[in-house]
Amino acid sequence: HMTTRTSLTLPSGSKLEIPVGLYINNELVAASDNQTFETRIPATGEKLLDVQHATAEDVDKAVKAARKAFKTTWGNTIHATERAALLNKFADLIERDLEKLAIVESINGGKGIRMAKEVDIPDSVACLRYYAGLADKGHGQSINSFGTDKFVYTLHQPIGVCGQIIPWNYPIQMWAWKVAPALAAGCTIVMKPSELTPLTALMLNELAIEAGFPPGVVNTLPGLGATTGDAISRHMEIDKIAFTGSVLTGRKISKAAADSNLKKVTLELGGKSPIVVFASADLEDAAEWVATAIWFNSGQDCTAGSRLYIEEPIYDKFLEVLKTKADSVAIGLPEDDKTSFGPLISKLQQEKVLGFIKSGKDQGARLITGGSNWDGSPNGYYVQPTIFADTTPGMKIVQEEIFGPVIAASRFTSETQAIDLANSTVYGLGAAVFTNDSKQAMRVSAAIDSGTVWVNHYMMVHNGVPFGGFKQSGTGRELGTYGLSEYQEVKAVHHNLAIKP
Ligand code: NAD
Repeated sequence: HMTTRTSLTLPSGSKLEIPVGLYINNELVAASDNQTFETRIPATGEKLLDVQHATAEDVDKAVKAARKAFKTTWGNTIHATERAALLNKFADLIERDLEKLAIVESINGGKGIRMAKEVDIPDSVACLRYYAGLADKGHGQSINSFGTDKFVYTLHQPIGVCGQIIPWNYPIQMWAWKVAPALAAGCTIVMKPSELTPLTALMLNELAIEAGFPPGVVNTLPGLGATTGDAISRHMEIDKIAFTGSVLTGRKISKAAADSNLKKVTLELGGKSPIVVFASADLEDAAEWVATAIWFNSGQDCTAGSRLYIEEPIYDKFLEVLKTKADSVAIGLPEDDKTSFGPLISKLQQEKVLGFIKSGKDQGARLITGGSNWDGSPNGYYVQPTIFADTTPGMKIVQEEIFGPVIAASRFTSETQAIDLANSTVYGLGAAVFTNDSKQAMRVSAAIDSGTVWVNHYMMVHNGVPFGGFKQSGTGRELGTYGLSEYQEVKAVHHNLAIKP
């Protein structure tokens, strides 16, 4: 059980050596009690390999290393321009190892390899470079509106040691969204990847060491949520926690933070994103975007467009076109270059999604296509692209986040009704409006309670654009300058310039 490195067999038959231990203070080590947990291959249901499971004691060691780095190097003697240079070097190394990272990401996460190569990893590299660019461009304010005998300026200072807990749907990208702004700001990190997809986070930590980050700046602790994750959330010496995952876990983390040292918390949680299609929209184009909205990453996306509201006159026609899109989705094995739609992450997730599909049928929604697993790999965790029509607001498939490839459609007859329907869940992460009337687009975008609204497209995220949720979809923002400021404290320094009488 002391294994901290192991050899992974790739679909091609060749072997790749990867880390399966914990990274603490730039060293690859076993867990303090040598316990491991198992990872699986979503496309086949087979066991992949065992990974060391970080204990509360390991969390404590990592926090101590991160604190030391924060006080001595990263948050102190190393200046912002050097942080920027290291982040850029890190980005270069990820690009160099893109093929290796992509293959592991696709085996462990079930993602089509082309997606990993062309979307997830390039976007993550761009995220590191974006924050490298911002690292040395911060400035505070000088405020002199109190007369000549007083002067105030503000300092933007790194918050300190940050715990970061991420999900499995975009293991590298979620990692980049957390790590890049934190390091740019001058924070040090204790990262816990999802227990379902811990491998690429460990490979990235190996690259961070090669890039030259000093010991303690980046630490990676694979482990389960209820143990490793909980220990991070409760640790008294962690200054901030950044979390992406479910609402249920977000609540637990908020409580743990409140009950311990009241550490700062930012949460990127779930969604039940509405898509409103007006009769004036370009039907073919809108249907193509809706297909992306719900079937990209097999529906395992926090902004997945899972509720579809179609204006009455085009209702039947739109669903007909959308069905042809569903039936032509490239479902396949992750290692196949043609695959755009892979398995769900786990047996549990597959059962959960199939359970939602059953509830849709039981509650009287009309199944148009999909609804079962995939014959191409009967033991893999696949669920086909699925469309339900004639849904009503009270149905489970309309209210709850499914986190799978299931869209629930219904019709509307007025703009106000569409807005009310769009706002009728506890979530507010993503939304879309399809219309050829620009005034209508602006009215509806302003009226939908959502951190992001896409007009006549879907799912575009950009490193320079803030991303986050209204309502129970979360608190705080990632990406852009807002994302950096979530890792900074603002200090006001008041000077008394008065001459003593
Ligand atoms: P999850 O909440 O089960 O797990 C997320 C992470 O939290 C994992 O690393 C897990 O180990 C950890 N965790 C679990 N219990 C914990 C605890 N008690 N204390 C501390 N950490 C704990 O979510 P998931 O199933 O991995 O991901 C799916 C969810 O994530 C969906 O709801 C989805 O909408 C959401 N998500 C949101 C975004 C976003 O940016 N808003 C992005 C991706 C996923």
